[in-house]
Amino acid sequence: MENLLKQAKAVILGHAVADALGVPVEFCSREELDVSPVINMRGYGTYNMPKGSWSDDTSMTLCALEVMDKKLNFHSVMLNFCKWYYKGEFTPTGKTFDVGGTCATAIERYYLEPNREVFGVNSERANGNGALMRINPFCLYTYKSDLSLSAKLEVIEIATTLTHAHKRSILASKIYAFVLWELLKNSSKESVKIGLVKAKKHFEKEEELAKYSIIFDKDFEKVKREDISSTGYVVDSLIASLWCLLTTDSYKGCVLKAVNLGNDTDTIGAIAGGLAGALYGLDSIPKEWLDDLLKKDYIEELIERAFS
Ligand SMILES: [Mg+2]
Repeated sequence: MENLLKQAKAVILGHAVADALGVPVEFCSREELDVSPVINMRGYGTYNMPKGSWSDDTSMTLCALEVMDKKLNFHSVMLNFCKWYYKGEFTPTGKTFDVGGTCATAIERYYLEPNREVFGVNSERANGNGALMRINPFCLYTYKSDLSLSAKLEVIEIATTLTHAHKRSILASKIYAFVLWELLKNSSKESVKIGLVKAKKHFEKEEELAKYSIIFDKDFEKVKREDISSTGYVVDSLIASLWCLLTTDSYKGCVLKAVNLGNDTDTIGAIAGGLAGALYGLDSIPKEWLDDLLKKDYIEELIERAFS
């Protein structure tokens, strides 16, 4: 498992570092960031949090990681989401911040009615990136399992519906999983393309696939920056993250490009950062950024417990 453990660290820390790079400038416009681009870890800004603070994207990822040393139990994940949301656990400083509306609704539903069948919100308006941003642990878990492809996809689906139950969000998580699984098998840009081809083939009958059609275009990398939208809408976030991954040649280049798109900087950074971690490896993440990351040892401990 040595190799999987190192890969899991690359993915989860790659995600957390990029989250922390984006936190101080979340909601800044692209024009503002063009004038003063993020080039290193900054402190304060949007949420007035110290340098190296990661947000909901990483907190909710850790909530899932924490229960992965046992048989996967989605109730345990929801309980951890409650500990994060209500008590400030799984946070860098004991303070919960940057909570998305759909995640909040789902967690409150669970808290009031834990035996309900689905907690996630199933409406077309509830398609923010709040499930995609925390799907990595489930992708790693299914990658190492000997489940069939359909059973792996079912895990990804249930994990998504914990907060986001609309088919568009579910499809985003599944496309992402196809790409990450290929990258874990073979860390090359070609693998990103192979993952996308496999996803397209697998979901060709799903009408929601049309929303993501641009990522399957052979000229996707040639799309201009001004045509890439960096909002918190799950479709925009997946497209923007993959575009940053495919148009750069290093972890650092990818996550800075993602963060400096502006708007949902931390989450698009984090989604791109997990994939870039898998593509370029743990050693590609700048050491000074890892050193700046708050509670890095705690994050590593959770990864080690889950994937050793
Ligand atoms: Mg966030």
